[in-house]
Amino acid sequence: MSDEVLAAMNEAARCSIDMHELHIAAGKRLAQLTQNEAAYVTSGCAAALVLAVLAIRNNGDPSGIISFPGHAERPFEVVMHTAHRIPYDSALALAGATIRQIGNAQQTFEWELEAAITKETAAVLYVPGTHLAQVALPLDVVVAIAHARGIPVVVDAAAQLPPVENLWSFTRDQGADIAVFSGGKALGGPQASGLMVGRTDLIEAARQNGAPYQRWARALKVGKEEIAGLITAVSRFVSLDHRAVHQDWLKTVQSWHAAFEDTPGVIASIEPTNEAGQPVPRLHLGISNPERARKVLDFIDASNPRVMVLPDMRNGQPHGLWLTPEILKAGEPGNVQNVVLSSIDQSK
Ligand SMILES: *Cc1c(COP(=O)(O)O)cnc(C)c1O
Repeated sequence: MSDEVLAAMNEAARCSIDMHELHIAAGKRLAQLTQNEAAYVTSGCAAALVLAVLAIRNNGDPSGIISFPGHAERPFEVVMHTAHRIPYDSALALAGATIRQIGNAQQTFEWELEAAITKETAAVLYVPGTHLAQVALPLDVVVAIAHARGIPVVVDAAAQLPPVENLWSFTRDQGADIAVFSGGKALGGPQASGLMVGRTDLIEAARQNGAPYQRWARALKVGKEEIAGLITAVSRFVSLDHRAVHQDWLKTVQSWHAAFEDTPGVIASIEPTNEAGQPVPRLHLGISNPERARKVLDFIDASNPRVMVLPDMRNGQPHGLWLTPEILKAGEPGNVQNVVLSSIDQSK
């Protein structure tokens, strides 16, 4: 977190405040900053998924909120592409929903989505990113089919920043009803914060389910410190010079590339995007001998200061690693380079 975010959290920690009023005011500010109708702060993106589904389930209606759980009035399904099943989708079960899958690992058809929407359907959950199988229907097609049947679309965009435009493009431009983001990933906010943006009625319904009310999602309470920190982080993120940040990342990756270019047994190459297809450049170091690659990874893992890398695994064997500049502070790119170079050296 930046000094500004920490200062905001510090100041909030020393204040007494009405939490309902804070949530409403924070939502207004975040809606402005993210060019959305409405916004709400949660204790993480997974919490935002739970609250989004609860909001759709009961529309903020007190009798619906009070009777949950235990009153299985009706089945309650969320439609997802098989290609979009992720480890985080258990959040849907926490809100009492079951998942109905459409398509498979190789293909999805529009008629499958049309057929999956029944009177039991609550919502469609859409997960963007090129790290998932690229066989899902485009978001605008999903929105058109779902909206024609009165069904809202929720986008899990937890880690889909940058680009900054994603804060508004899924909802304002592509028509999704709600989009949810992690506060503690690229936004640089508190780790235990999340951001929900989208339709005013659904955001208000989410708030009706959450803390400080003594209701089902009280267990997902977000603190005033996180709320203040997230507002500051989002405000900072939307006013960042993202081109300059990207240029800095590219410079780091290019300097790594130059440093590793003549290293025997290693092939260095620059990739323009991260594993999810976002504009975060990174360096790939290919090591063709899996035993050597394993040794390099072990040396890096045991390094002090610790360097965390993404291993390049194929058929269960390491074939190299990726280095990404995204969270490094001034001076750290050089440390990373030294640790990795000496690990490669020791692995000989
Ligand atoms: C990280 C992530 C989450 C969970 O986010 P938290 O803020 O840690 O709760 C949910 N969905 C996706 C796709 C994620 O990448």
